[in-house]
Amino acid sequence: MKKITVLGSTGSIGLNALKIIEDNSDRFSVAALVARSSLKKLAAQIEQFRPRMVSVANKEKAKALRAMVKRRVKIVYGVEGAVQCSADSGADMVLSAMVGAAGLAPTLAALKAGIDVALANKETMVTAGELVVKEARAGKARIIPVDSEHSAIFQALRGEKKKNARKLILTASGGPFLRRPLRTMKDITVKETLNHPNWSMGQKITIDSATMINKGFEVIEARWLFNIPLEKIEVVVHPESIIHSMVEFHDSSIIAQLGIPDMRTPIAFALSYPERLELNVESLDLAKIGKLTFESPNMKKFPSLKLAYDALNMGGSAPAVLNAANEVAVEAFLVKRIKFIDIPRVIEKTLGLCKPAPVNSLADALAWDNWARSKATEFIKNSSL
Ligand code: NAD
Ligand code: MG
Repeated sequence: MKKITVLGSTGSIGLNALKIIEDNSDRFSVAALVARSSLKKLAAQIEQFRPRMVSVANKEKAKALRAMVKRRVKIVYGVEGAVQCSADSGADMVLSAMVGAAGLAPTLAALKAGIDVALANKETMVTAGELVVKEARAGKARIIPVDSEHSAIFQALRGEKKKNARKLILTASGGPFLRRPLRTMKDITVKETLNHPNWSMGQKITIDSATMINKGFEVIEARWLFNIPLEKIEVVVHPESIIHSMVEFHDSSIIAQLGIPDMRTPIAFALSYPERLELNVESLDLAKIGKLTFESPNMKKFPSLKLAYDALNMGGSAPAVLNAANEVAVEAFLVKRIKFIDIPRVIEKTLGLCKPAPVNSLADALAWDNWARSKATEFIKNSSL
């Protein structure tokens, strides 16, 4: 029986993962659950999955949850609570699926404790990818990607020598504004942004997909996960989201992984790796789809994607700054404080102030994260965009 801790159990990835765990209860059980504040959902999950430990955002929520749950379960809270659920709950694997840099501390804690991580929380890799990979190596823990692109690459590299890979080709749907004329980008609303054409996901990643910074984050994630230089990572827009990504080898042979866009496939693969589970995900009917199309990304229309490349080239703490500024900008956009086209402006301004330094510890990463948040917040407050 593989005991899983789910960080972000009430979110889009978390709910899909718990369904897989429920459908495969002979293989998986739940060690601990972590969520921010959806207490009703969490209380029902505690009843159903009987974890040893649960963590919520803060003391008040922990108290409120205690009052809702009859079952014996340890209820903790905050960053320390999430870290405890990762490292001290007896888990064999931690599914890292919180949103944002908040996922960094509990993910690092798991790896340090030698616990394998199924990684959905890409902000962790953007904020401190080099450090995360180093800790995994030191802790002899594995990181199995959940992000569909990285899962595809991971699968394409199975049984291959990585040194034979010429390049990784990440596919991007292009998001809801792929065909939107540049001159009307200034009128984009929150509602339009939350309407992704292919994937059903949490709010933040849906907005990140619309600005295409999500793809930039994925380039950074791939750089560290597969230890491959930026020049060997390519992005191609593929609006149908059928090919989830590819690897080209030295003999010009390309191996791709395909399927209908459904996160249950990569989640299940990460949880059960190296086995494959039987899933009732719809089969791909290529004849029905008819054709698959590809084009180059438009960095002028989606400057956030370019900023992600810039941050990775700047190195050190710059990607942490990129991520934090984006988190602040996305929140401000969601409450209609700034426009869609202001999101990359906030990031560019904040990144412009950053003099990159190495990120050697969690404390370094969090200090840069905090610094960038306050700078980005200032830009928004002073409307100096
Ligand atoms: P979501 O918003 O639906 O869920 C986030 C979960 O994290 C919730 O359970 C929430 O309670 C919890 N959470 C957030 N902040 C927290 C905090 N400070 N403390 C404790 N819990 C906290 O997000 P999602 O779409 O499931 O995405 C989760 C992560 O997976 C993100 O990093 C995202 O980029 C990545 N990802 C998601 C998808 C997808 O299809 N949804 C695909 C690839 C990668
Ligand atoms: Mg992805």
